[in-house]
Amino acid sequence: MAFVITSPCIGVKDASCVEACPVDCIEDAGETYLIDPNVCIDCGACEAVCPVTAIFHEDFVPDFDRDWIDKNRAFYER
Ligand code: SF4
Repeated sequence: MAFVITSPCIGVKDASCVEACPVDCIEDAGETYLIDPNVCIDCGACEAVCPVTAIFHEDFVPDFDRDWIDKNRAFYER
């Protein structure tokens, strides 16, 4: 289980989440930041600071953005 960055990050990339993450598992992936699901410890710190509500626990990602679960994972499987 992990937290997931979703589409509202596009065009914003506020980066507060990067500062908040205690395990440094959020990287710049171009159009958005993305979370490494293998390193994320599910602390929720990133979700709390995101100004555009782009971050969700993977169990609570809105239906229209469910594909972002794979986008986050795939970025770290390159
Ligand atoms: Fe980092 Fe915690 Fe967010 Fe996971 S939930 S990405 S560990 S701040």
